[in-house]
Amino acid sequence: MNCLDFRRRIGAEPRSRDPELLGHRDACKEGCAAFWQRAQRFEDDLEAALTVPVPEGLADRILLAHATGERRRQVSRRRAWMAMAASVLLAFVGAGLFWRQADLSSLPALAVAHMPEELDSLNLTKPMTDAQVEAGFVGRASRLKGPAPVGVTYVHDCTVGPYPAVHLVTRMNDEPVVALYMPEKMIDKSTDFHRDGWDGRQVALSGGTLVVMAQGASRQTMAAVERGWRAAIEGPAAPNVGQI
Ligand SMILES: [Zn+2]
Ligand SMILES: [Zn+2]
Repeated sequence: MNCLDFRRRIGAEPRSRDPELLGHRDACKEGCAAFWQRAQRFEDDLEAALTVPVPEGLADRILLAHATGERRRQVSRRRAWMAMAASVLLAFVGAGLFWRQADLSSLPALAVAHMPEELDSLNLTKPMTDAQVEAGFVGRASRLKGPAPVGVTYVHDCTVGPYPAVHLVTRMNDEPVVALYMPEKMIDKSTDFHRDGWDGRQVALSGGTLVVMAQGASRQTMAAVERGWRAAIEGPAAPNVGQI
């Protein structure tokens, strides 16, 4: 007999006097004697509990308990309905949170959220050279197909949320406008956004995505900056021109 057999048998019949069992108990060095002791104590407690005299009026109390149980069952059925209603409500709240999350991970949200670290760039006024702008795009494995807009004051390879981007600032009519170019194509349609004090537009390019945004710049300035970067990134609008 091994320890497992022994413990199974004792679990089923703790008071057994089977010599085979008692033999294992006395010979085992793996703690079966202690197991047997515990089983006996548990059995003692159980027997003691069962010998407590039946209190007076027990039958009445059992009947009362039965009636109370019936009432509890009614209440719990009602609770089940309320729980179901609550879970439906929670599902709606959950869906709301889900959409809020989705909104927080949208490109405009990520673009606005990444700005605080680079806010100083808005105050720069010294123009960058074409070579520096070029280098910014090369850092993101991209190439400009047309001349960069004039008035570029900041070029930096950064990340917008999870997306590698070229972060640019152009200054036009003394208004700084941020342009974030991501080589990945992320949207099919250009849309405007207003978010936390930023006005902006996410622009679908033939290859990649551009976000143009500013705090309080005029619409014309924003549109001019968008046109400038689109021409620089996609090349001149007319087909087959400029492919030298
Ligand atoms: Zn054993
Ligand atoms: Zn950036």
